[in-house]
Amino acid sequence: MDEEIKKNIAIIQERIINACKQSNRNPDEVKLLLATKTVPAEYIKIALQTGCTLIAENKTQELREKYQSLQEIPHTNHFIGHLQTNKIKDILKYDVSCIQSMDRFDLAEKLHHRLQLENKTIEILIQVNTSNEESKFGVNPENAIELVQQLAHFESLKIKGLMTIGLFSTETEKVRQCFRTLKDIQQQIITLNIFNVEMQELSMGMSGDLETAIAEGATIVRVGTAIFGKRIHPDSYYWNENK
Ligand SMILES: *Cc1c(COP(=O)(O)O)cnc(C)c1O
Repeated sequence: MDEEIKKNIAIIQERIINACKQSNRNPDEVKLLLATKTVPAEYIKIALQTGCTLIAENKTQELREKYQSLQEIPHTNHFIGHLQTNKIKDILKYDVSCIQSMDRFDLAEKLHHRLQLENKTIEILIQVNTSNEESKFGVNPENAIELVQQLAHFESLKIKGLMTIGLFSTETEKVRQCFRTLKDIQQQIITLNIFNVEMQELSMGMSGDLETAIAEGATIVRVGTAIFGKRIHPDSYYWNENK
């Protein structure tokens, strides 16, 4: 398994470099994030030892379980799962530097109040539901800009960009449309020049569609399966913190 993980990471890095070449982008502009849901800490450590530094969980419980054993290797934690308001206190214990799945006002408001109590700030990305599939979370594209404007008032939240999960489809052009929608919203927000809002990050692209995402401007690609292998549960399971 160790060798498998190392080999898979090398393949993904090649894919990223090739995709950047195709679209005349500098590979330094694209960060590889390891989506580590269900992956045991020992395998995550192997990945970190190859030089990867950015990992993300979908559930606070997994964050907690792996936290101690990952301490020995420096890395950055993001959060990419659906977050319940009752888990806010918990998630702030585990050095999560960025919540990529921010998608609603009440969550932001409660997070802000908790951060103020703890005298902390946190980075967030706004998750947009660009595929309009019911099973996925994220703010609807038509409400995304308004949400950013509202959240900009919470000074403990540092908005850094947008995140989306593209349509699961073998039709590349439909998937591409999701990423274009995200890019388009980013451009509109940049034009508005909102105080306390930065828009440099576009987190989009996963194992199956990272090339398309990079072509459309991704700065973070989130890869799980192509590095760690198949998971036992369907993805919908991890996207819902209630389950
Ligand atoms: C699991 C997950 C990924 C990675 O998906 P793979 O297809 O396994 O690469 C990316 N983003 C989110 C939000 C995820 O939950």
